[in-house]
Amino acid sequence: MRTLLWKLIENGSLSADEWESLISCEDPDFSEELKSQAASARDRVYGRKVFLRALIEFTSYCRNDSYYCGLRRSSSAERYRLSHDGILSACSLAYDLGFRTFVLQGGEDPYFTDERMASLICDIRSSFPEAAITISIGERSEESYRRMKEAGADRYLLRHETADSSHYKVLHPASMSLENRKNCLRVLKRLGYQTGAGMMIGSPGSSYRTLAEDMLFLQDLRPQMVGIGPFIPHHDTPFRNEPQGSVDLTLRMLSLVRLLDPHVLLPSTTALGTADENGQIRGLDAGANVIMPNITPMDARRKYSIYDNKKISGDEAAENLGYLKAELEAHGYIAALERGDYLS
Ligand code: SF4
Repeated sequence: MRTLLWKLIENGSLSADEWESLISCEDPDFSEELKSQAASARDRVYGRKVFLRALIEFTSYCRNDSYYCGLRRSSSAERYRLSHDGILSACSLAYDLGFRTFVLQGGEDPYFTDERMASLICDIRSSFPEAAITISIGERSEESYRRMKEAGADRYLLRHETADSSHYKVLHPASMSLENRKNCLRVLKRLGYQTGAGMMIGSPGSSYRTLAEDMLFLQDLRPQMVGIGPFIPHHDTPFRNEPQGSVDLTLRMLSLVRLLDPHVLLPSTTALGTADENGQIRGLDAGANVIMPNITPMDARRKYSIYDNKKISGDEAAENLGYLKAELEAHGYIAALERGDYLS
């Protein structure tokens, strides 16, 4: 296993079988070494900084029906969308707290046409010229991505969820296509976005092999950001009785992604913090370097329920920024509110 680990560190790529061997290795000594190599790789590029991004969940409407998601169109979730001015106010609040990255996240909501998104991004860009704008609103046309980029967006998050086509069909209805999703990611990269892919760990139908395919996909795409969290079931979905994904496996995957690209911007996700009380610090210890405190107005935040028991208060909430900063410091990290762009 150590030979494979060194091969990854030196070459930045492995075969599917090699990935599968590393992913499936549960030996505690090996896990410790993996974690320590990943943390060192991160420290060499970014030091002990943890970049904090203000997350604004601005619409819970979605036209899609992903089987794992509490916001799927068939769920009975109470819907909301923030107004143009409401989103600008949230950005302003984030800016006053010191954040220099805003992450605008939502379902695939047809209300937010290309015109509305371009106008919104343009207004954020002119009000906060030095802040980075990250968008995460799913699959759109190349023209749509281009317009948002021209309006001032810097980054785009679009998790691929799984790179295995059979597994993708277990997680999504036939109306959704893995090929289209992968193509969107390629287009985003080509348009010059700092692009984020990512996957759930332990979703129904997943295996070490499907995770190896995820790594091959990331190895080929070379995204600047990767979002990884454990699958957590939602009561109003077909997967309500499925088991939660493993925290240990999620941590292993974070370390492997860090070693695949030491420069990657890698969030320690709210899902990890929901699955394990110390999950977000454990994620940082495994090589992550981003946390996204939630700045969405509280009444809306409650309704943005993509999985059960999602944490909406506590140290991932922007109101508790002081507490989060102190906690990071206590674990040897530095809270960084700057833009925190990908360092190539
Ligand atoms: S995962 Fe995203 S696209 Fe799928 S239903 Fe949920 S919000 Fe919509």
